[in-house]
Amino acid sequence: MQVAPHVYVMHIDDGGVMHPGGSNNYFVGDPHTDMVLIDAGDQHRAWTRSILEYYARLGRPHISAILITHGHQDHIGGLDRLYDALQAPVRCHPKLVKRLEAMLGPGVVQPLASREVIRTGGGATLRALFTPGHEVDHVSFYLKEDRVLFTGDCILGASSSTVRDLASYMRSLHLLRRFPHDTVCPGHGPVVPPPRGPKLVQWYIKHREEREQQILAALARGVGDVRALARAIYPRNLPRGLRQAAESNVATHLEKLVREGKVVATPARYALAS
Ligand SMILES: [Zn+2]
Repeated sequence: MQVAPHVYVMHIDDGGVMHPGGSNNYFVGDPHTDMVLIDAGDQHRAWTRSILEYYARLGRPHISAILITHGHQDHIGGLDRLYDALQAPVRCHPKLVKRLEAMLGPGVVQPLASREVIRTGGGATLRALFTPGHEVDHVSFYLKEDRVLFTGDCILGASSSTVRDLASYMRSLHLLRRFPHDTVCPGHGPVVPPPRGPKLVQWYIKHREEREQQILAALARGVGDVRALARAIYPRNLPRGLRQAAESNVATHLEKLVREGKVVATPARYALAS
């Protein structure tokens, strides 16, 4: 489906509990000349096949690069097969190069530079924005001509993302906000057009700030461990996988607050192993 003048999305319902609203791969550029592909999906053959079928429907344009948003399995699992089919250089964050080279061989993977501009068909340009937080090697892309942000897993279309380092994540959100956009194209969940698209980054920032306030308020009430904090803050009926994600989100908030000197950690309690 075409979602902007230079943007075509291959949407797949991969059925993961962590991916409400499915997942996306993007072809960006001009199908009559050349395009880049953003992300490679996971290792399931059906996913790779969907990407290649969509590519055939676009008329098999020349692919000038495969851009990777980050090194999680659901973004690089199909890379080996896609590289064989498309024979395009793979571009990613410098911290991910070694891992992808181990998969694809030497000379194939080229590190992106921060703010580098990648040109593709139809005069479209993508600017690489290093956005660590969800993962250290995370990159987002800004398509100026269409006012589109490709946010990988930094911002999702139908849920909030899991975060490893919240302080860097917040800096990344503030960076994304500086690039004027109408549409957010996330790694998972639906594409978010106006009127919600331009407000989504701000909503994410506000959401995290509110979480932090909730955690500080619960700590003030004497709730003092990750599990209890997650129970106090999140809905009671979260599915198991999301409960774990909620707890790890609480933990990343606490790490940030400790580093900022707003919270102190006291030694852990111990219990018999079960
Ligand atoms: Zn993902």
